[in-house]
Amino acid sequence: MTVLRKNLIDGEWLGEAGSPNINPSNTNDVVGEYASAGPEEAKQAIAAAKAAFPAWSRSGPLARHAVLKKTSDEIMARKDEIGRSLAREEGKTLAEGVGETIRAAQLFDFFAGETLRLSGEMVPSVRPSVGVEMTREGVGVVGIITPWNFPIAIPAWKIAPALAYGNTIVFKPAELVPESAWTIVDILHRAELPKGVLNLVMGKGSVVGQAMLDSPDVNAISFTGSVGTGKRVAAASVEHMRKFQLEMGGKNPLVVLDDADLAVAVDCAVNGAYFSTGQRCTASSRLIVTEAIHDRFVDAIKERLDKLVIGDALDAKTQIGPVVDQTQLKQDEDYIAVGRQEGAELAFGGDRLERETPGFYLQPALFVGSTNAMRISREEIFGPVANVIRVNDYDEALAVANDTPFGLTSGICTTSLKHATHFKRNSEAGMVMVNLPTAGVDFHVPFGGRKGSSYGPREQGRYAMEFYTTVKTAYTFAG
Ligand code: ADP
Repeated sequence: MTVLRKNLIDGEWLGEAGSPNINPSNTNDVVGEYASAGPEEAKQAIAAAKAAFPAWSRSGPLARHAVLKKTSDEIMARKDEIGRSLAREEGKTLAEGVGETIRAAQLFDFFAGETLRLSGEMVPSVRPSVGVEMTREGVGVVGIITPWNFPIAIPAWKIAPALAYGNTIVFKPAELVPESAWTIVDILHRAELPKGVLNLVMGKGSVVGQAMLDSPDVNAISFTGSVGTGKRVAAASVEHMRKFQLEMGGKNPLVVLDDADLAVAVDCAVNGAYFSTGQRCTASSRLIVTEAIHDRFVDAIKERLDKLVIGDALDAKTQIGPVVDQTQLKQDEDYIAVGRQEGAELAFGGDRLERETPGFYLQPALFVGSTNAMRISREEIFGPVANVIRVNDYDEALAVANDTPFGLTSGICTTSLKHATHFKRNSEAGMVMVNLPTAGVDFHVPFGGRKGSSYGPREQGRYAMEFYTTVKTAYTFAG
């Protein structure tokens, strides 16, 4: 029997079956049925969050700590089961699904701790006998809109700080991965979050998401997704004079210099470009490689790609799962065709693969002989597709790395302290990796990018406070 998951509005599970959730490793497998909210339910959810804000924002650290800690503990205790269900609905491998679930638990744990470390400042006024206090308060109703590629980690890194700093939430997850979203909300709800503090509205972005964008009662929106939708969030938020934070695409460069340790460089490239089926905004899709190491690097990558096990996400042997759905698969294949038309050479992969079950399997693709001007170098593909750009030296590599409309992550593989140091200082990205994959970040430090990748304050770590709080400056004359 298929499970029916409902929306959570003002502490009540509501809604009828709307849309099925399909396993991309086996399209005959229906993960569950999910309620699909309309604009009216979105409005009810926003009203509930608004009504719950005064009490929750004054609830004090212990109440918030208890909910966040309980949530972290339950996610951790159920990591295998939740990780498996995540892999089933999204298509990343079991190991990646469990790893992401552990990450969600760590994020709730981190922000549980932050509730006990809230602080302010007190300074003397320039006027005698007057004191000035600077404190932080919750912003109000926060709209959280998330994508499908990290079904539990991204909701966790937005919901945990939003709650920790006293906000109430209307959460709209991506249509493709409602089970992970529902699970996290169910856990928080059972952790005795007061009604209305967290509301779940599953449904279409153009309906539920748009209703959140259009509401004057949503005080802040944290969004991760495409550049196109991000721009809509920005425009609507300016219209309503609300705070907003956007995490969007990437076209992240990995520079490999002649003096790199080849094994390290190949590990970084294969992991960064292809793991999680290349469906990470931090994926390294541009491999910028200097002359002398170029051919050895390309040969070694091809050898590794040939050995990768591509298959059902739930099979423990699988290293690369399927693409998330038919639309994304078509986008990947279209870009592979574009790369060929532009004159890049497809050195490996790019074909559809047949497996025992019907699914969206694609062989990882590697282009060589590409230039940075090609569309495959400039536009985010969001699949297991990377291209090698050959350059003469470090200076050219840096210039090519920075010549992009995006700026989320960047990486360099080198044994030269001089080049590593120069790259860290001069790379136009929010996060820079030396001898590490461009994807794969810590949860206790800021996450975010520059240029077309991100807008607004950083996410995660203590920096998350910038978005989820507003500063109050209070003056007191004590006589
Ligand atoms: P992706 O290509 O990763 O699916 P989207 O930007 O389309 O990126 O989706 C990211 C999130 O934004 C999803 O939860 C989606 O439902 C939501 N979304 C899509 N369109 C809108 C919209 N008009 N208003 C608000 N949210 C939207």
